[in-house]
Amino acid sequence: MNQKKKTRRKHKPSIMHVKNGTCYLCILEGNYRKYHVLHKHHVFSGSANRKISEEEGFTCWLCPEHHEFSRAAVHRNAENMARLRRIAQREYEKTHTREEFMALIGKNYL
Ligand SMILES: [Zn+2]
Ligand SMILES: [Zn+2]
Repeated sequence: MNQKKKTRRKHKPSIMHVKNGTCYLCILEGNYRKYHVLHKHHVFSGSANRKISEEEGFTCWLCPEHHEFSRAAVHRNAENMARLRRIAQREYEKTHTREEFMALIGKNYL
């Protein structure tokens, strides 16, 4: 065991994406390039939903362009933001019910 401070916060790895240097949106475009710098994106935002995203693995790795800087970046492009939310909900509902998703996030994206 390491000596790090104990924390009650749960962290799940992404339920959408294996952390292997790829960018999730690049993959959706068929580009499996690996990046040195990736940003962790929390698929559902707002302080409560960001924490839930961390706990439930509603996260994915994005290249800086797809995260913040290009026109297709999730934080500048509502369609790409919604696309990731639909994918996260679909993944979650492979092992949970719609009611469980709604209880967590409060909105249905599908
Ligand atoms: Zn990318
Ligand atoms: Zn983000």
